[in-house]
Amino acid sequence: MATVEEHAIEIHEATNGAAVASAAGPEIPVENPATGEIIRTVPDLDAGAIAELARRARLAQPTWEAYGFEGRARVLSRMQRWVMDNAERIIDTIVAETGKTYEDAQLAEISYGAAAFGFWAKHAGEYLADERVRTSAVFVKGKKLILRYRPLGLVGVIGPWNYPLVNSFGDCIPALAAGNAVIMKPSEVTPMTSMLLAEGFAECGVPADVFQVATGRGEAGAALIEEVDMIMFTGSTRTGRKVAEAAARRLIPCSLELGGKDPMIVLADADLERAANVATYYSMQNSGQTCISIERAYVEAPVYDEFVAKVTDKVRALRQGRPDGGAGTVEVGSMTFPPQVDIVEDHVRDAVERGARVLVGGHRGEHGGGHYFEPTVLVDVDHSMKIMREETFGPTLPIMKVRDAEEAVRLANDSEYGLAGSVFSKDTEKGERVARRVEAGAVCVNDAIINFAALELPMGGVKASGLGHRHGPGGIRKYCNQQALLVTPKLALKREPHFFPYSRRGTRRLGKALKLLYGRGKRD
Ligand code: NDP
Repeated sequence: MATVEEHAIEIHEATNGAAVASAAGPEIPVENPATGEIIRTVPDLDAGAIAELARRARLAQPTWEAYGFEGRARVLSRMQRWVMDNAERIIDTIVAETGKTYEDAQLAEISYGAAAFGFWAKHAGEYLADERVRTSAVFVKGKKLILRYRPLGLVGVIGPWNYPLVNSFGDCIPALAAGNAVIMKPSEVTPMTSMLLAEGFAECGVPADVFQVATGRGEAGAALIEEVDMIMFTGSTRTGRKVAEAAARRLIPCSLELGGKDPMIVLADADLERAANVATYYSMQNSGQTCISIERAYVEAPVYDEFVAKVTDKVRALRQGRPDGGAGTVEVGSMTFPPQVDIVEDHVRDAVERGARVLVGGHRGEHGGGHYFEPTVLVDVDHSMKIMREETFGPTLPIMKVRDAEEAVRLANDSEYGLAGSVFSKDTEKGERVARRVEAGAVCVNDAIINFAALELPMGGVKASGLGHRHGPGGIRKYCNQQALLVTPKLALKREPHFFPYSRRGTRRLGKALKLLYGRGKRD
């Protein structure tokens, strides 16, 4: 592993703070998973290098904080335009390092990134404005009470490989908008997008060292936790537990966006055509490598056959292949992380061995050197199978017949995860009633996933799917310390009645006052 000194500082300066280095020092190869070609290498930073980045970040942060919300909003708004001006470059980079389609890069990543820059530019000041607080506490009547949010200082963001812009980089935006310096550790599999966006920040006027990209492996992520004031982690539940343990040892806050096994419930009165389109799109889009993708479906018996037939036809029609042909050429690209193909294959094999039937797909795909798994639909599945209980994170849709909504809800909740879910019914009130019973951080009625685009709505998991939220007011307040301010006016009493010295009379009076305040009313 390399230290910062081993990597050329000129490049550090050229990218205004991104820890992007020269060929000196150990490097990590980055593969295009759609072709199997190595497209570049990036530095493998060690703990010493990360400590140096943190030192620089802490020096730079006060200047950024002093920009204030308006100053930071100007930079973030510039960055929104930069993303659109450079959209094709960003899409090319994302497609090259993930193997996803042009549309998956454009619809999910560019549109989210551009929206997020504008959203946090507009709302950071509003969500973090001082709040005047009213109180019912008699001892503080007449005093001014203020809740204030102040940036934590240095935030570490660790990201996964499935959405290099949305999930890795997206969380840096509110952390920066709050006035923090940020060091981002992208997945070693997909580091190039964050490095490109660091270039954008430099062009748009983020001061040097306020945003830095620390490329490296898992060890770099672990080292980052040792340096920062808060860690925002997106990734697997297994690594999330390690991150939480490390954060607990340092007594720093952590926010964890982890895995999911998101259920879809189709009730007998659903619009089956819409439900089948949603199921096909949101289980196969991005090759199923979306934490909130539809991972399993439960369908009421009367409409089960028709739903399965529709989904099967739609999935069979999908074109899978190399995404480098550009827009409109394939619906499903490659898998991003080669070992994930083994997991998908293992889940499908396990299901078939336990009695499931594959209606479409079921095998690795062959598209010239890349890592593919065919879009796959399975039926005759049950909860003894990995594909219904463990996160598959691939282009698979297992569909299970259920007697009624009760059984669907019971099975949907029979999971260690609780990230997202969806319910389909033309009776939206019934759909909402069922949705409220699904144990998940977000549940859509007659839709899926798209709640993620509403940045005003909190997004986060329950159970083993995470701690904390992104988006909404809580999605930026978590990057701040809350400070309570109490101001006693200058014309205050010289001595408050409860101060020393104590006296029998004074204490009796206080007892009576408390009785009057809190002791009245009927007893049950
Ligand atoms: P991992 O948990 O394997 O890795 C996530 C990140 O953590 C990577 O950057 C990884 O580095 C780093 N890392 C590895 N070990 C450590 C450690 N000990 N300390 C600190 N950081 C470490 O997840 P994947 O990259 O495989 O991502 C897929 C997972 O992410 C799925 O489970 C998916 O559901 C989840 N996810 C959740 C989302 C949500 O919003 N809830 C959104 C998107 C994905 P390196 O890659 O270099 O090993």
